[in-house]
Parts: sequence; C-alpha cells; structure tokens
Amino acid sequence: MVRTAINFLLGVAALCLSGTSWALTVFVCEPEWGALVKTLYPKADVFSATHHLQDPHHIEARPSLIARLRSADLAVCTGAGLELGWLPMLQARAGNPRVQDGQPGMFYAASVVTLINPFLGVATPFSGDVHREGNPHIQADPHRLLKVSAGLRDRLVQLRPQDAQEINAAYAKFQQRFSAAIVQWERRAQNLKGRWVVTQHASFDYLWAWLEMKPLADLEPRPGTAPTPGHLDQVRQRLAQRPASAIVIAQHHDRRPAEWLARQDAARNTPLIIIPATVASMSHDALMEWFDAVITALTDQVR
Ligand SMILES: [Zn+2]
Repeated sequence: MVRTAINFLLGVAALCLSGTSWALTVFVCEPEWGALVKTLYPKADVFSATHHLQDPHHIEARPSLIARLRSADLAVCTGAGLELGWLPMLQARAGNPRVQDGQPGMFYAASVVTLINPFLGVATPFSGDVHREGNPHIQADPHRLLKVSAGLRDRLVQLRPQDAQEINAAYAKFQQRFSAAIVQWERRAQNLKGRWVVTQHASFDYLWAWLEMKPLADLEPRPGTAPTPGHLDQVRQRLAQRPASAIVIAQHHDRRPAEWLARQDAARNTPLIIIPATVASMSHDALMEWFDAVITALTDQVR
C-alpha cells in the first residue's frame, strides 16, 4: 500500500517535471543569445554567464556558473572555440546530461553559419585565441544573426513542442522587424563603405564585412595576444602611410594601446571609437538597440 502510494507520488512528480507549466531554464554564454532566446520565447528563464563588459574568451568557471549550468534545460553558446577556455570545464563539473555536446539542450550559434578568417598557421600555447575554426564573433553581423535565430527557433520548438505555435509566431515577427531594420542600418551606413579602420582582436570583423569597411591593422599581433610595443609601432607606421578613418575597439578591451596610437596620430586627429561588443541587456529589443547604437557611433564619428 505504502509502495503504491510512493509510486503514485513519484509518477505525479515525473509528470510535473515533464509538464508544460515549467519554464524552460536557459543558460547562455553571451548576452546576445539571451536576448535572442527572450525574443523567440519570452517565458524562458534566461541566465547569462557573461555581460557586455567582459571578454567572453576568458571568464572564471565559478561555482555559481556551474550551479546555473547544472539546472539548465538548454545552453546557448557561440562555439567555434570562443568558450574553449571555460565551457568544457563547466559542462564537466555541472554533470548535466541535457547540456553536453551533441544533445538537443546544447546549441552552438556558430554551427548554423559560415565563419570568416580561420587561422591557417600552426597554433602553439603562445598563439593566443587564434580563432582556429574561423572568427567566432558572429554577433556583429545581423544577417548571420537571422540565421542563428532560425536555428534557435528550431531548437526551442524541439524542446518545447507544445509551444511551437507561439515560438514560430515570435520568430516570424522578429524576422520581419529585424530584416526591415537591417535595410535601414544599411541605408544609414552607406557613407562608411570603403573606409579604413584600425581595430582590436578582430572583434568586429563581421561588422566590417557587412558594412564593407576595411580593417587596416589590428592592435593585437594575433587575436588574443596582447599588443606589444613592437607590433604597435608597426601599426603606427602603417597608419602613417595609409590614414584610417577611425580606430575602433570594444568596451571590454584595454584602452591603453588604442589611446597610445591615437596620441601618435594626433596630427591627423583620427577618432578613437569605443563600442560595446554585444547587447547591454537581454530585453527583447536589446539587439535592435545595440545595432542602432553601433551604427550611430560609426556614422557620427567615422570621418
Ligand atoms: Zn576572439
């Protein structure tokens, strides 16, 4: 009798756990994917491991992050090696079978788009985050973001088939709004085409490709290798030969190398533009607001 009652209660508990009323718990490695999840599935409970002032290559695998990943139904990360320094460790320590590689609960954004600029050299422990599989900083291309949103829509529907209709409706609305916004951003950015920029860490290579701007030099000798005096001097010489329209770095970068270069180039007064590499919040309008702010910063300040 007691055993029957226990079995009944366990059955009820299992039904509750698999039931429709439980929010989908989502762990995102970077906030842009959190904003996308909130856009496609607002009732998801989303936690981001990093924010816009952090370098997503390098964060500490803190116990609080392990606990968050342990309870996640879905993890959404960039992949392509961006989180290589910390995500595998989190996955191993969290011991959550749902978010291991290859499971429906592990979604890598980079897996649904093509990547640019793969590292073709021989990597050593001193090579930095060379982006072996290609540049993982895909969030700065709105066209790729649309592709990621389609892949993420499919994954959310797979995990929450009972909510397929609302996820598909939110996806259609986002595609329409975001596609219309892309047309506006491209129209506003017309004058940026062909402009040369000095950049840092290849963080915005997808942005330059999208807007048809040209990276003249990178403050880092290789992505993930800190700027050295020798390399900075080479960039200075390059800049002296071919003037750039701006030096553009991300908010989470060390500003000192870019500020040094701007001082060397004081006679030309090349503007130093500092923009966030991702969204500042995970609200459903965050992606639109971020691209708006980036386009505004560039169109206002690039000469
Ligand atoms: Zn990188």
